[in-house]
Amino acid sequence: MAKEDETRTCVRCLYEASGKDKYCKRCGAPLINRCSDEGGRIDKGCSHVNDSDAAFCARCGCQTTFRKQGLI
Ligand SMILES: [Zn+2]
Ligand SMILES: [Zn+2]
Repeated sequence: MAKEDETRTCVRCLYEASGKDKYCKRCGAPLINRCSDEGGRIDKGCSHVNDSDAAFCARCGCQTTFRKQGLI
């Protein structure tokens, strides 16, 4: 797992963000590539955190947030 003092590189603008940030301060792109299946009232959803180059969730095969937002 990523430590909090590590940096995350924004996939859209390559800004080096703090490991604590969830969204890029420069362009607003998400920095964490989660599964887009976040569930509803009954279904808990997946929300699996994938590698930053994953277009589809490794656990359930749904699109990832990076793919949905056209980042990869
Ligand atoms: Zn960015
Ligand atoms: Zn998933």
